[in-house]
Amino acid sequence: MEFTQEELLQYNRQMIIPEIGEEGQKKIKKAKVFVAGIGGLGSISSYYLTAAGIGYLKIVDKDKVDCSNLNRQIIHWTGDIGAWKSDSGFQKLRSLNPNCSIDAITAEITEHNCMELIGDCSMIVDAMDNMKTRRILNSASIRKGIPYIYGGVHQFDGLATTFIPGKTPCLECVFPESHAESSAAPPGILGPVPGVIACIQSIEAVKIIVGLEGLLTGRLLCFCGIDMTFREFQIKRDPDCPVCGRK
Ligand SMILES: [Zn+2]
Repeated sequence: MEFTQEELLQYNRQMIIPEIGEEGQKKIKKAKVFVAGIGGLGSISSYYLTAAGIGYLKIVDKDKVDCSNLNRQIIHWTGDIGAWKSDSGFQKLRSLNPNCSIDAITAEITEHNCMELIGDCSMIVDAMDNMKTRRILNSASIRKGIPYIYGGVHQFDGLATTFIPGKTPCLECVFPESHAESSAAPPGILGPVPGVIACIQSIEAVKIIVGLEGLLTGRLLCFCGIDMTFREFQIKRDPDCPVCGRK
């Protein structure tokens, strides 16, 4: 796989990083990534992954752009209000990097369509806002044996971790379904907080693609914007987990 002069220039600043280099960039160009949701988290992760030269990105979202999204969903602009988020996202990503192949789909991710939607993508970037869909993504990650990069935000706080089937706990091990889940009004979110978490997810995605170590595996990273701290907690596999445990 050769790069055009334009690509060599475009990706130069990351290709001169020893851990990436031309070999790493070739892997990035061959990669296929599934981004579930193009809201607060997905705006940023899809943008950075496209900018990094990911070969193929599939973005899926079921909603239209609403005025109340604009404080954090920075891929959508005022003129996009009322448009499908997948269309709005597609236009920005295509303008950003025409060398990146992008499929933008308007759909609700369900247990019936999830496996097919993910298709032959080699990882899932979770940019959802609800645990129900996350559980569907988690199950698909286990069934396909592909990494699932989790991110979640609330007010000034965010969480991130990388689940790798067979190697790490899964979402269900860490957040069991019996765990109380609020289904009340949407949480408050300070716009840059999903920015922080989605950037971490994007770095994880690139590291997995390139084959670097030091992943956020077995560790739940907790960002608190109020006291500006990052803490991490060890997370362990539940041998009796109904999703990834040995039955
Ligand atoms: Zn599990």
